[in-house]
Amino acid sequence: MAAAMLMMAGIAMAQGMMPIPVDEAVRMGKLENGLTYYVRHNDYPEHRVNFYIAQRVGSIQEEESQRGLAHFLEHMAFNGTENFPGNGVIDYTRNLGVEFGRDLNAYTSTDQTVYNINDVPSTRQSALDSCLLILRDWSCGLLLEDEEIDKERGVIHEEWRLRRSAQQRMLENCLETLFPGSKYGQRMPIGLMSVVDGFKYNELRDYYHKWYRPDNQAIVVVGDIDVDYMENLIKTYFSPIVLQPNAAQVVDEPVPDNEEAIIVVEKDKEQQFSIIQLMFKHDPSTREEKQDVMYMVEDYAMDLISEMYDQRLREKAQEADCPFLQAGTYNGNYLGMSANKEAFVFYCLPKPDMANEALQAVMVEALRASMHGFTAGEYERAKAEYLSRLEKTYNERNKITNEVYGRSLIANYLEGEPIPSIEQEYQIVNMLAPNIPVDLINQVLPELIPQNEHNMVVVNFNQEAEGKVYPTVEGFRSAINAARASDIEAYVDNTKNEPLMTVMPTPGTIVSEKKGDKFDYTELTLSNGAKVILKKTDLKENEIRMEAESKGGSSLYGKEDYANLEMFDAVVGMSGLGAFDNTELTKALAGKQANVDLGMSTCYETLSGKSTVKDLETLFQLTYLTMTDIHKDEKAFNNLMNQLSTMLKNKHLDPNSAFSDSVSVTLSNHNWREKPFDESDIANVNLDRIMAIAKERTANAADFTFYFVGNFDEQLIREYLCQYIASLPANASRENYNNVQEYALGKVLNHFTRKMETPKAMSYMFWYNLTEPYSMRGQILASMAGQLLDKVYLQKIREDAGAAYSASAFGMQRRTGDLNQTMVIGVVPMTPEKSDLALSIMREEAANLAKTVDAASLTDIKEVMIKDYNTSIKENSYWMNVLTEWVGRGNDDHTGYEEMVNSIKPEDVSAFMRNVVLAAGNNVEVVMLPEQ
Ligand SMILES: [Zn+2]
Repeated sequence: MAAAMLMMAGIAMAQGMMPIPVDEAVRMGKLENGLTYYVRHNDYPEHRVNFYIAQRVGSIQEEESQRGLAHFLEHMAFNGTENFPGNGVIDYTRNLGVEFGRDLNAYTSTDQTVYNINDVPSTRQSALDSCLLILRDWSCGLLLEDEEIDKERGVIHEEWRLRRSAQQRMLENCLETLFPGSKYGQRMPIGLMSVVDGFKYNELRDYYHKWYRPDNQAIVVVGDIDVDYMENLIKTYFSPIVLQPNAAQVVDEPVPDNEEAIIVVEKDKEQQFSIIQLMFKHDPSTREEKQDVMYMVEDYAMDLISEMYDQRLREKAQEADCPFLQAGTYNGNYLGMSANKEAFVFYCLPKPDMANEALQAVMVEALRASMHGFTAGEYERAKAEYLSRLEKTYNERNKITNEVYGRSLIANYLEGEPIPSIEQEYQIVNMLAPNIPVDLINQVLPELIPQNEHNMVVVNFNQEAEGKVYPTVEGFRSAINAARASDIEAYVDNTKNEPLMTVMPTPGTIVSEKKGDKFDYTELTLSNGAKVILKKTDLKENEIRMEAESKGGSSLYGKEDYANLEMFDAVVGMSGLGAFDNTELTKALAGKQANVDLGMSTCYETLSGKSTVKDLETLFQLTYLTMTDIHKDEKAFNNLMNQLSTMLKNKHLDPNSAFSDSVSVTLSNHNWREKPFDESDIANVNLDRIMAIAKERTANAADFTFYFVGNFDEQLIREYLCQYIASLPANASRENYNNVQEYALGKVLNHFTRKMETPKAMSYMFWYNLTEPYSMRGQILASMAGQLLDKVYLQKIREDAGAAYSASAFGMQRRTGDLNQTMVIGVVPMTPEKSDLALSIMREEAANLAKTVDAASLTDIKEVMIKDYNTSIKENSYWMNVLTEWVGRGNDDHTGYEEMVNSIKPEDVSAFMRNVVLAAGNNVEVVMLPEQ
């Protein structure tokens, strides 16, 4: 790969080799003990700071007797450190409004372990100092106490159980075959439960001291900080750490090449459908190569190749006789596990019993491009798309988040990824792209898709069932050979060379305009009666959001349309517009950042869309066409129905979907509208009927309110409104919705057992009131009640009882149609042996919350809510929501929010829990246990 790219770039760039510049805003350095650090100032979001520590070690460093310890250690970082004993890390950061699991988290993979503390308020310097101290403790000051280790064994065991899906089981089965002669074959980070349950305390401490060392670590701090101050503080905290002499070195674990294809076929009873991956392994660029501009060329080429393949495969899948339902490509670390080997991957969902044919068809497409190349037209579209995405990022360069910067600095440390500024990247790519013709891209393909089995890997997962015939290694090999032997012709690119709209409608006018009573918006009435709400913001330089809604929705239709209502959004979404079918439309929109979706909820039909400043007119054209001329696309519809039938055929085999189906059926009191969509419903989906419903729902623009929020030009948007919205058909009728929603009343228990491959237990509990009117205060109280219960569950069920890996709860108040819902919901995937205990804690603690509320917990929760509020008011989506609630439903969810949150006292929450949530007496419990 690299060789061809070298040549390519040599031709492309007259100047020859050129190093990729490093973003000047990044302060980086290395301490004498080998610790690397990165500090960057960033103002988005305002007054927030992210802290990370990255270790270039993971499960690959484990010995056979230590399998699972790298990940175990990661958990122990939250169970006692020198300066933050016990739950100190979690408790301290919670005080800052930092939520464990969301803002405070970590992950362990085969060759890296990364911890983060995100969104720390920068208002108190001492808080920032303390967060850096937590990083120091993580780097070398974990307590690793006996009793804390013992408490965590159960938690990890439950995490293993929770993650043990059909795919996980199959991957573990074949991992050694996929990594022959490599430790990667035996180092799944979750490890062995025999090790987790029984390792000796010192083994964990040994791993910690051996591998967590300054020369394997990087500190990253990004946000609203004084860079000099932070750099000095890093030096103060981390320089005293002594690097032990003769420390063990991190050595890359190789992933050997294979000359003969590796083919694995696996099956599992809970797998729902068959999937095939065809991979071509190749070496990644070295750290040195990644510092050269060529690497950006390679990255660009790979992105475009994948994009062009995807487009062809999508188009192919719509042909009636295509043996696969869906297919696509990506390039990445081999099996997502090893940074030492990459793979270009084709994945596909074969039609039932057509695995060989599907693999052959995908291989033919792989070869078609490598033999005949991509066409200039395909390349131009993919390039336009790539450049327009880059331009969008560039135009919003002041809104790059701490998280995005943080992750790229970590990737620089761990994988040597370049870190140019967005200005530099934009400039380099725009200089290179015009000089890279499609021929150069095509020259790379034969190297990516070789003519022999060199580095080829085929992985196939199947649903296991009695009497079923599975694909075989020989069958797959023949399919590959048949593809090679077949007569492959060049691709023909069918496109429509015409604008989206050829005939412009006669424009209407704006008949009235007035300032809104609050929130600084303008209300317009158009000549056809449509109402428009405009709110100009500069929250993002390059974003305009649109929503439109009208009362009615699926509530106006009866049971005979059940299947059509369920599939409405999906079918409309894959239709074409105007003269363009789905495939032609995708091609026509290449390089444009604008989209519009028509959807239907119970009480409303809605349009929602988004565009850049430049593509605003396209957004308006898409809106006009969606409301007047949806293109019925039979091919795309049939493909969608075939996909659904394969996906749904074995849905019941997955315990999780069986459980969530039970939840919605029980909660809705078996109302047909909430019935889970099954395979047997597919026959009742009718394309013509859906097109007719769509026409009905969009026939009257005067019944819609259109909302625009973002950085639009005031003059231009008025021209577009007249041209494309005021010209929409309309009439004088006004619709309302029917109140069709239903909930189970009283106490309803649905406890059931089922047979499972890995025994799991799951419980949902709902407490709710359907009469309390919606208000901002009610919404705040319900949310607080849910968060309080969440904290208690985590402490009592996970930490104290070891009865679950995760235990959570949340609360909300909302209004759908005229129905008010105030709810508190507990969600706990339990340890089967301890399910009685977990269930009784769930019930007791909900009842306890109605008696007393912990004042300190409530203070922490307020901190989080106010912090979240201050972050979200910087988003256009927040204001869109405020406006649709206010103009559309008369709810003001914004004014006085902060004061309201601060005014709530502990006794207010317990009174709300007692008098509203529990007093209504509605309580649904759905519990699934493994069959013995
Ligand atoms: Zn974990």
